[in-house]
Amino acid sequence: MSELVKGRVVRADARVYHVQIEGEVRQCAPRGKLFEQLEGDVKNPVVVGDWVQIGPESDLPGIEQVLPRRNYLSRIASSHDPREQVLFSNVDQLCAVASVRKPGFSSSRTDRILAACRWHEIPAILVLNKIDLDRGEEASALRATYESAQTEVLEISALEGVGLDRLRALLKNKVSALYGASGVGKSTILNVLQPGLDLKVSKTSKYWAGGRHTTSFSQMLHLSFGCWVIDTPGIRVFRMHGITKPHLRDLFPELVPYDGRCRFADCTHDHEPECAVFDAVEAGKIAPTRFASYLEILDEIQPPPEDLDAVEPDG
Ligand code: GDP
Ligand code: ZN
Repeated sequence: MSELVKGRVVRADARVYHVQIEGEVRQCAPRGKLFEQLEGDVKNPVVVGDWVQIGPESDLPGIEQVLPRRNYLSRIASSHDPREQVLFSNVDQLCAVASVRKPGFSSSRTDRILAACRWHEIPAILVLNKIDLDRGEEASALRATYESAQTEVLEISALEGVGLDRLRALLKNKVSALYGASGVGKSTILNVLQPGLDLKVSKTSKYWAGGRHTTSFSQMLHLSFGCWVIDTPGIRVFRMHGITKPHLRDLFPELVPYDGRCRFADCTHDHEPECAVFDAVEAGKIAPTRFASYLEILDEIQPPPEDLDAVEPDG
């Protein structure tokens, strides 16, 4: 096995992976055994960010082994496929990119990815773009909401060059995943961080018409000021894989102080009487948008299979 060389996956298409090996990018294919060795109900064996061992030279070199991951982010593959789809691995942080307006800020989308990052122990920052479109209080209200959710907020305008030095400082010497809905300005941000990168910027009108063609591959880009970013386009729906209801509470930090203060020790803060979290929302101490996101995710979580078995069939 001495011929194996180490490389890092920088782009994943359907069947072909681009692997950087000592400064050179080669196309490689995963060996069939990697699919056979998949544990649990994982869909894909190799992702962007993976360190891999490449076999001896051939037309299409083979990925023989994926080295242990420091961390990874995954979701439920799709509404038709309940398997775990891994999106990327081995990152220092994730930047959840959103815009104040055009498109308007989506709490649901943002809160899902922030919760998923906590679940996978990936530090996350909220990058709020297009603050030039802020009509007054929008960005500051979002800042207050997310700071109480223990999430750092960085307000920027890629178009007007606001906050970009702070963004550069945040990214420097790190591997960061970039996640956000199409239209929030990810390509624009990358293009201003690295002139000449020439990522295609969409026309907002086309995005609104729903006709935007999004690339389906993730790629890891090196920016010359000294960082790597993983661009993860085309992820519209993010549903966490493998989470259970009792765990979800811990992924919303502003709910945690109320642990043990509800009438029922195992309160899910959903429908139970005398719920301290519900009271805190009513009293304006927890942002209603965050609580709504919590309930939305809670509602989607399926009970584990053993619980289903325990249910008596009632005709
Ligand atoms: P992506 O889909 O996330 O890659 O978004 P794009 O980079 O393609 O940008 C979508 C639209 O938003 C384009 O029309 C950009 O010009 C616009 N845009 C990007 N950043 C800003 C910003 O900071 N302010 C404003 N007003 N528009 C922006
Ligand atoms: Zn409760």
